[in-house]
Amino acid sequence: MGIQFSDGGKDLFLPLMRWKLLGLFLMLVVGCVSSVRNSMAELHSVEIHLKHVSIDEWQADYRLSSPTKQIVFWGDISSFRGKVFRFVDPAFELSQMNDKEIVVRKDGAAFRNFSLKFNPRVVSKDESYPFMLAFTDGSAAIHLGYLGVFSASAQSQNVVYTFETLAEENLLVNGVPSRSWSPENEFDGVYAYFGSIRPKIGETLKILFDPQTPAWLSKLSEKALPEIFGFFESEFQQRPNIFFILNASDMRNLETSNLRASAYPGWILTRISGASWKEPSEEFKSRFLSLAAHEGAHRFQGLPVGDFLQRAWLMEGAAEFFKDQALSKLGYQSHRQLMAELSSAANKCVNILEQNRMTLQSPSEGEGYYGTYYCGHVLHYATHIASMSRLPGGMFGLWRKLLQHAAGRNGSIDENDYFEILRDLSVTPEYIAVAQKFISTQHSDPRRAIDEVLRSGGVKFKLRRPKGKIENGPQFQFL
Ligand SMILES: [Zn+2]
Repeated sequence: MGIQFSDGGKDLFLPLMRWKLLGLFLMLVVGCVSSVRNSMAELHSVEIHLKHVSIDEWQADYRLSSPTKQIVFWGDISSFRGKVFRFVDPAFELSQMNDKEIVVRKDGAAFRNFSLKFNPRVVSKDESYPFMLAFTDGSAAIHLGYLGVFSASAQSQNVVYTFETLAEENLLVNGVPSRSWSPENEFDGVYAYFGSIRPKIGETLKILFDPQTPAWLSKLSEKALPEIFGFFESEFQQRPNIFFILNASDMRNLETSNLRASAYPGWILTRISGASWKEPSEEFKSRFLSLAAHEGAHRFQGLPVGDFLQRAWLMEGAAEFFKDQALSKLGYQSHRQLMAELSSAANKCVNILEQNRMTLQSPSEGEGYYGTYYCGHVLHYATHIASMSRLPGGMFGLWRKLLQHAAGRNGSIDENDYFEILRDLSVTPEYIAVAQKFISTQHSDPRRAIDEVLRSGGVKFKLRRPKGKIENGPQFQFL
């Protein structure tokens, strides 16, 4: 599923794809756990020793604590395992079961060990979560999630990775030197970096810059990222560790100019490519910081209960809102730009809801899904204004309460709490009803629906006449 985003594309699409993929990934994993669990009840733990053998080759040795007839790879069926993984012992093969990839012996016998070799450089780099990230000095980071396997209880505490590097090579896991790693939950996957690039190490933030990162961009990142994440630390009252990877490729290519990003609990990955990145511009600066702040907000906001897609209006909309607040409060965006962002979000929300028959709680695929960003952004801004006089920090205060509620539920954010908290704060019942209706119903007149949300939330705005033929109907203008 190669996704390329050109400079002409919208930044919002970048984080979208990753969360969408993460959401699908979580659903698929959750859906399949129970069916494969029974077949491997005897297996208790797995050690995976990952060894960098030569510049283009790695070997993974799997050692299982008890014999099994099959072991199951995490995630859904990949586009590359079958092509790239080679078993050292030809008695083994990769097979498929219930939409999962499994390792079996050809003779069906039980086993406790197997080894596979692979050259990850041949795998497509266009995925949101590439198996390997190549840096411009030839060093590489491997996504351990793709090597992960299920154990009996499907709990990843049962999986331990150990590492062996080439001579003179450093190994970084989550940005710090390490010789082993264990996933915290079954969906976990980090990048293990093999190479000689030294990360910039802060207390909670580690940044790994590709050697060809343009000087203006590394300078900007070193200043802005600690400010943005520091702002989130104080607003969310949490201090998560963040491994921020800035990967560069194709930096001499005049034809291409891309910015891509993905994130996961633990790390944020941004990838630039194309010669145009070498020169600073307001546009590149703004696109990069917007993306970094949006992904950063995800790192602080937690994960929702259940299906991510149904709660994207909450999670993606809020990440957009928090991104805008951070960039404005820190002076990377003027008040005028902030209002322009909100106006644009409201007008895009109208267009998307007009063209897609959907509710925000069950967005349609493709463009329809982007509506959760724009419409969610507008809704959370209205909530921010509606709750500000009753709660310090408005939406930030609300999210702190959401996280407190979530703490008793394995940290999962529940959208019902969003409205519950507004009720507890005595935000007007009118606003709460309008907000709930906004996300749960299909709107024949989306403009009117947004108008209603903004009015009942007390947001200052006007509707202006459309300009030219591109703008379709009256346009929202935040004041
Ligand atoms: Zn996002």
